[in-house]
Amino acid sequence: MFLADFHTHSGCSPDASSSMLEMALAGAEKGISIMCITDHVDIDDCMTGEAQRDCFGKWEEMKRRFEEAREGLRGRIDLRLGIEFGEANHGSASDMESVASKNLDFVIGSIHNLRNNPDFFCIDYKSVSQCEMLVEKYVEEHFELARLGCFDVIGHLGYTRRYMKRAGFDIGLGSHTDRLEELFRLLRDSGKGIELNTSGLRDGTGSAFPEFGVLKLYREKGGEIVTTGSDAHRPEDTGKNIADGMELLREAGFKYFTVFKERKPEFIKL
Ligand SMILES: [Zn+2]
Ligand SMILES: [Zn+2]
Repeated sequence: MFLADFHTHSGCSPDASSSMLEMALAGAEKGISIMCITDHVDIDDCMTGEAQRDCFGKWEEMKRRFEEAREGLRGRIDLRLGIEFGEANHGSASDMESVASKNLDFVIGSIHNLRNNPDFFCIDYKSVSQCEMLVEKYVEEHFELARLGCFDVIGHLGYTRRYMKRAGFDIGLGSHTDRLEELFRLLRDSGKGIELNTSGLRDGTGSAFPEFGVLKLYREKGGEIVTTGSDAHRPEDTGKNIADGMELLREAGFKYFTVFKERKPEFIKL
């Protein structure tokens, strides 16, 4: 099976420590054919939700590490360079220009915190109504992101469930179907897609992000661009559940999955 892992982090992310080469070698061992390193480039500080001064501070190091990895791999895996662009909708026009100018293969647009709020990981969840209110705002912020178009796919849609479930509140995206239909139309019309992030299959959430019903809805509304990613932050997680993710895509009605090169989609038969 041809497997692609298009969401991985190296030591150029604040929450990972392995080199790009180590990540890529681990991916190759697991039978991944194409891998994209997508280190965090966040507009906001994850603890406070306040804007950071230079979100692209590690660009030179990223480029250097990527070239090192490519040399060390000697073709064992097709390695590409992307970023996970966090909270682009809280950023400025110059942040968008900065991303567009970087010769990246792929950009995931993710939302990890609401405007002026800490990361979802840092929130103390206390009630169903609090969780539902946060999820509603989370869905709404994706419209701001979708209209910016500075990304290729939306990252881990509905991953808020991971943290809420840990606190005892299993809140998915099921009650937001109408808004998600609109969001998916917007994405389709602007040539953007979503990712199927398989981290939820190994972290106790019990479903990928987005959850299956939402993935199917995206397909039914004409969504064609869908990448697969493990969101590995350590070598042992590279490629995890990607084969399961491919199966979910088939079940949801997809005939192809997507990889990116120089920000252009390439479609590969499932
Ligand atoms: Zn993320
Ligand atoms: Zn990530």
